[in-house]
Amino acid sequence: MVLDKLGESLKSTLDKIKNALFVDEKLVNELVRDIQKSLLQADVNVKLVFELTKKIKERALHDDVPKNLSKKDYLVKVVYEELVRFLGGEGAKININKKPYYIMLVGLFGSGKTTTSGKLAKYYQKRGYKVGLISTDTWRPAAYEQLQQLSQKVGVDFFGIKGEKDPVKIFKTYMKELDNYDVVIVDTAGRDALNDELIEELNKIRSLVKADENLLVISADIGQAAERQAKTFHETCNITGVIITKLDGTAKGGGALTACSVTGAPVKFIGLGEKIDALEEFKPEGFVGRLLGMGDIEALLEKVNEAITEEDAKDLGKKFLKGEFNLLDLYEQMQAMKKMGPLTKVMELMPGMSGLKIPKDMLENQEIKLDHWKHAMQSMTKEELEDAEIIDASRAERISKGSGLTSGEVRELVKQYKQTKKLMKMMKGNEKGMEKVMKQMQSGNVKF
Ligand code: GDP
Ligand code: MG
Repeated sequence: MVLDKLGESLKSTLDKIKNALFVDEKLVNELVRDIQKSLLQADVNVKLVFELTKKIKERALHDDVPKNLSKKDYLVKVVYEELVRFLGGEGAKININKKPYYIMLVGLFGSGKTTTSGKLAKYYQKRGYKVGLISTDTWRPAAYEQLQQLSQKVGVDFFGIKGEKDPVKIFKTYMKELDNYDVVIVDTAGRDALNDELIEELNKIRSLVKADENLLVISADIGQAAERQAKTFHETCNITGVIITKLDGTAKGGGALTACSVTGAPVKFIGLGEKIDALEEFKPEGFVGRLLGMGDIEALLEKVNEAITEEDAKDLGKKFLKGEFNLLDLYEQMQAMKKMGPLTKVMELMPGMSGLKIPKDMLENQEIKLDHWKHAMQSMTKEELEDAEIIDASRAERISKGSGLTSGEVRELVKQYKQTKKLMKMMKGNEKGMEKVMKQMQSGNVKF
């Protein structure tokens, strides 16, 4: 199975990184070769494989590594990120945003349309939607019974006309009734190959159903040939996405999964077994995470997030040091700081401030203050927000009426803004000055 086999070989590649003494070009080359081998074995297109590994190599050798990550961790992160991007990045979620929401499944014989119709019915029923299933397959003997049985198993309503040869007529018969459902899944007939007859039939149904999702069902065992199939269906039947089935039963699934992203028809679901609940929404991040060993990846990503916070903090420090900010900037920056956690930590990252202790009450009132600021600022004009210096007594009075704060509180806000500005000016390019200011703050002479 694709997950097992590809996962195993990718995991052993990552183990190699973990066990290596250090990251050098030799290790990166070895890593790249391993990844190429794993993906080619999973039937991923050679050109795509080389593009991917070229990118990985470039980043592995030339990216700046965040300070709190080891080179090895960073290498794993690069592999993870590039694989996720390779499989479609954020993924393509289906939003059930109208009623009824029509999902039509198309594809060749035996690709798994009918089975997947049942699985999708279960998937949406479980999420609280009223689901209807309709069979328009007038070709395959017993197609009607197959879907009927599935719908009974799931416990959703089934529509179809046994023995009817015209799919359009079947749909028209139930069109009105189907308005009562949240999600309607339309199963269609297949052929051995995508011929003109199938195209014509599908387009007739399509123009009638006007499905919100027109999904091509492809069996994973055709590997990278999925690209051609997705492309021709995309061009002739306007598909909006792909469902890859039977990923449990083949080593070639990597090819099918990656082939579709280049056609502009993203993979939206994957089928992982014959059972009715063996269907998953396809999310590249989770999928790659599982391939590489989720626990490890999660721990790593956590570390990465911390690193990003640290970068943000540095930016923030720089902005402050410039001393060019208005009330909105100040508010945004205070809010960003709140998100970042303890102000002390942020200060630690600013040059010259690491060793200094910040008075406790300055940190504690931050939250309440932010709230007041927000109310006050909502009552200010654009000019006032841009230049708080113009807020005189009468303006403060007006703002106080609008915001529910006392005019004293509004004046306090303006005062704080001015003080902060002054403070930052003193800090500007002057680390000694900064220390002096911080000491003053500690003694309570300057309020932040
Ligand atoms: P259709 O002709 O496109 O409607 O295909 P069917 O839904 O009738 O499925 C054809 C065969 O594939 C059936 O035997 C299904 O049980 C099987 N099948 C469908 N999806 C999967 C899957 O995700 N995994 C496995 N192992 N078998 C599947
Ligand atoms: Mg079928």
